[in-house]
Amino acid sequence: MMKSQWRDKAACRGVDTEVFMPDGRRHFSQKKKRGALSYCTVCPVKQDCLEFAFEHDIKIGFYGGMDGNERRYAKRVWVRKRKAEQME
Ligand code: SF4
Repeated sequence: MMKSQWRDKAACRGVDTEVFMPDGRRHFSQKKKRGALSYCTVCPVKQDCLEFAFEHDIKIGFYGGMDGNERRYAKRVWVRKRKAEQME
């Protein structure tokens, strides 16, 4: 799949981007999180979206079903995995 093609299949296509932005600087209320997850959970391109956020070091907002804090930890695992794959 070409880099940008995944966006066409996003469950959030056409949805107000505000749904995926935090209430405060980085904080998501549970209500807001549930709203974002209602799209991300069923999204067919969740992994592409998550990797896009990792690759572009996006820290704010919901991507791939995770908020910025959750991605910070997940990214460490992803980076390690990628390095291991490159060494194979
Ligand atoms: S994972 Fe969530 S934010 Fe990413 S494209 Fe899918 S619905 Fe949108």
